[in-house]
Parts: sequence; structure tokens; C-alpha cells
Amino acid sequence: MDSNAPDTTSTGPRPVLAAARQPLASFLDHLVKTGVVSKQQAREASEWKQQNPKDKRGLPEILEEVFAVPRDPLRQAVAQYYAFRTISLFERTVRKLLPSDVNKILHALPESTFHQLMKYKLLPYDLAESQTDKIILVTPNPADREIHELARVFPYKRFEVCYMKETEWAEYWRLLTSGKETVEPVAVSVSEAGEGDFEAVLDREIARAKVAVQLDNILLDAVRANASEIHFVARLPRKTDVLFRLDGHLSSWHTIDEVRCEAVAAALKELTVGIDRYERQAVQQGVIQRVVENVAIRCTVSVLPVLSRDAGSRFESIVLRIFREADTLPRLDQLGLDAHTSRVLHGALTASRGLILFSGMAKSGTSMLLTASLRSMLRSTLNVVVVQERVDYIIDGARQVKLNPRLTVDDALDTIVDHDPDVVVLGDVMNPSVAQVAVRLANIGHLVLATLPSRSSAKALGWMVDATKEPFQVAEAVSAVLAQQALRVLCSRCKKEISPSLVQDQLLYLRGAAAPPRLFRAVGCIECKAGYSGKHVVFEALAMTPALRSILLQTGRIPDDAAVEKAAIQDGMTPMLQQALELLQSQSTTVDEVLPFVF
Ligand SMILES: [Zn+2]
Repeated sequence: MDSNAPDTTSTGPRPVLAAARQPLASFLDHLVKTGVVSKQQAREASEWKQQNPKDKRGLPEILEEVFAVPRDPLRQAVAQYYAFRTISLFERTVRKLLPSDVNKILHALPESTFHQLMKYKLLPYDLAESQTDKIILVTPNPADREIHELARVFPYKRFEVCYMKETEWAEYWRLLTSGKETVEPVAVSVSEAGEGDFEAVLDREIARAKVAVQLDNILLDAVRANASEIHFVARLPRKTDVLFRLDGHLSSWHTIDEVRCEAVAAALKELTVGIDRYERQAVQQGVIQRVVENVAIRCTVSVLPVLSRDAGSRFESIVLRIFREADTLPRLDQLGLDAHTSRVLHGALTASRGLILFSGMAKSGTSMLLTASLRSMLRSTLNVVVVQERVDYIIDGARQVKLNPRLTVDDALDTIVDHDPDVVVLGDVMNPSVAQVAVRLANIGHLVLATLPSRSSAKALGWMVDATKEPFQVAEAVSAVLAQQALRVLCSRCKKEISPSLVQDQLLYLRGAAAPPRLFRAVGCIECKAGYSGKHVVFEALAMTPALRSILLQTGRIPDDAAVEKAAIQDGMTPMLQQALELLQSQSTTVDEVLPFVF
């Protein structure tokens, strides 16, 4: 949270923290007393909580989502229990903050903070009766701890968080974006009728401007340009900017002019499964699956309400994350693996069990190598389960499970074992408990593929031993460790030779590794990015040989990187450092690019 926030002497968080330590029973008693849950529901919820210790949800969420307790009375009771004041939008009181003041406060906040406020549904409402340095905030979830951190972003010394019914909160937000200064509860039905007219206006505009065709073309462009994301950003009431993320950078692609932003958003939402077109005040997520001109397009869609400078408009920011089809990726034999790496990988992939680790730092392409490896072995009779936090590629023929806060890897794995897969792909084993699971799955007879950020194959193996504290199990489980790193290649048009007097200084960094007498540095020209053009990926592969296994078994603790590497070299591995030095030798890269291999 913002460290520059004013020194807030809040009256908000204390009751929550204190109450959180009170026993479950007293909270449930309160809900029973207020008639929100029955005695039996309370008993069942309490048992459910004990039987599902891994579920991270709080009791109110469990009651709402598992036991279908109606939301508004439940939240009101929760607010009451934690001693949050309830504010009704329709109370006839004179407020010191007009909607225009609230809009000013919101406009002054950074965009990311505003998105947080929308996510947690927190809005300024009024100033305290006799204390003008205390802001009153309203939310339907006052017991959420995040809210009390978030409340500090407002430029007031103190704050009070109050409960407002969700429907009233939504109405309040509508009021803020409508530009009106007061709310008239009797007008609700009238505004709903107006709502229908508005949607009809949008439909006519979508038809007139052929918005659906424009969107299809944008989707197609994005897939062809190999963009990873498409951003639709409302700029003016009739101007939506379309940006593509290409190679990690956002760049302007197109502007949809002369069409209301709401119409563009509505047409986009029509294409999306799992999103309510008429909802404009909530964060929403959905999926698009479409075939345009024989190109299959699949993406996740995330919608965020944003503030507009124009009071009559309801803007939303919409981001599409495009899944790449794995079959557009290079095949294993197109990745430039050397003979030894190929042999080790092939041997491990054709075994019926074992853990194969794909290791490399960010952006070195580990998930591409893993996906290519997986595709090389896919056939209809092979039962493959992929468990990932972030899905980069859609792999036909595999069962892909996307993790989320409600579905942790531990939960998923219990069920996965029941599905008896031949191959399990785990996204990342950085978490020691996941590393243990990977080892266990391999040792009970599954072929397991996993990624791990690491600088070399020896370091990755050492990390596995350190994380699991089980050198014997690791020696038994791991069949191969692949490592890869990408080096930027010097642009041949603009590279400059380093003066001989500086070469020795540069070489010092390489700690005596054999390096050439002539070195070049990156300069930068119109044909390259900062003096580099393209990348070269180097690979190394370590097979679990009897020699290596005995190193792990003999030491019985974290093995020495150098000893592991030496055994792998004897088996035929060319270390990545050596390959990097060869690139230096051939004047294709710089000392800077080689340094990560030395340390
Ligand atoms: Zn250049």
C-alpha cells in the first residue's frame, strides 16, 4: 500500500482484528440469534470448516457460497457483529460530500488504486459529523481486512468504514457516474426503463457501425501479430483505443471512432461467455472462443469499470489475454537442441516414470521447451493432466487444470491421482510442498514434467534436494534436468570493438574463464534494440546416471554444484557457460550477457 499515506489514526480495523480472534462459536451464535442462519446450518458450517481445513475462505463466504445463505442479511449481520455502522443510501440526511466532491477525490487517485477500490467495492460517502478530517467510507464487505489497508489511500487523517447493502452500493456508484447530485429511491423503476432504452440505443449503434465485424478483425490481427493481450481503453465518449501487447510491450494498434465506448464494450461482452453485458459496475471475467477465417481464437476476458471524465458515460477497461495454440509453436526438433541434450530429453520422455525438470530464468523459454516435449509424446491413449497457475498454451489432447485461489495445487493433486494419469505436468515447483508432490508422484510411477527457475541444471538439482530435504527420494525420482538460458545477440550493424586496454577489465568479471582477446560492446541503431538483435538460447541436460545418483546418496544432503556438473560433463553434457563463452569467442555477444552464467 502507499507508504506516503497520511498518518491515519484509524478507528476502523481494530474491531475486526479483535473479533477475528474470537471463537467461531460466538460468531455463529450471533448469526443464529439474528436469524440469518438456522441452528442446523450453524452446526453444519462449523463441521464443514473443520473438515476442509485447506479452504482459505472465511466463514461468511462459506455460508454464502456453500450453504447458500442470502447475501444481504448475512453481510449485515457480519457488519453488526464486527460493530460496523450501517449506512443506507436512502437515509434523508444532508451529506457534507456531494457526489461531485466524491468524483473529485476519486479522480485524484492513481488508476491502479481506483481499480483496487472497485475490486473491493469501497467508496467515500461523507465526512464525520464534527470531524472534517475523518472520511466515512461505504462498502458491502466491511469485514474484509484488505479494505482497511485500502482505506488509507484517501487524503484524510482518519477514516471510518461503514456497511452499505450491495444493491444500494451499486445504486450509489451509478449515482456517482450519472452526474446527479441526489438519489431518489422512487425513481428506480424509471431508471430501469431508461436502462432498456439505453441498451436499445447501443444495439442500434453496434449494428450501424458494424462493431462486431470490427472486433473480429481486431481479434484476427492480434492472433496474426502474435500479440499476447488486447486492451480496449475508453478515451472519450465515442473513442476507444485498442492496444496490443507485442513482445511484452503495449503499443497502439487501432482506434474505434464514432461509436459509443459502451457500445464497443457491449459488443465485446456479447462475444464473451460468462459475462453479463448489462453489468457495468462490477469486475467481471469470462472467456471468448471463436473461429474467424479458420483461425481459432481463445482468450480470457477481464472487465473493469473505470471512471470517465464525461459524467454521462459508463466506461469499462477490457483486457483480452490470448491463449496461443500449442500447435503453432516450434516442434522439439526445431528448437536447436544439441545431440546430448536431445538424447537425455528423449530418454527421459520415453520412460514410463520419472521427474523431468525444465529449468531456466524468466523469459528463457522453459515453458516452450516443456510444451514442445509434451506435444512430442501426446497420443490419444496417453492420459495427460496439466496443472498450471497461468495457462500460456492450449494443448489439444491434454486435460488442462487452471489453478485459482479456490483451487490450490494441493487440492487439485489429491483428485489428479484418482484420475490415474500417465503424465502430470506441474507448472512450477518453486513451492517446496509442490516440489515434494512432484517427487512423490514420480516415485509412485507417474511421468512428471515441471519447471523451476534456476541458473543451471546442477543448481536446479541442488534446489530440489534442499526444498524436499529428501536426497534419496530426489535421486530416485529425477530422471533428467534440462536447463536453458537466452543470450542477446549483438547487432552486427552497430557493434563496436572494446579498446584493448579495457578488455582485461572486462575479462576480470569472468573469473578467469577462457575468453577471447577481442571483445565487442552493444551500441544501438535503427535496426536493433539497444545494440542487440535477436536471442540465442543455450541448453544443457543432466541425466540421472548411476554416478550422479551415488553423489546424491553418498552426501545425503545438498550436493555440491561443481561435483554434480563434473559428473554430468563426464556423461557428455556441454555446460551452458562453455557455450556462452563460445558465443563470446565468435564475437556474437557481450561479457554482460555471459556474466549470469558465471555467478
Ligand atoms: Zn544495431
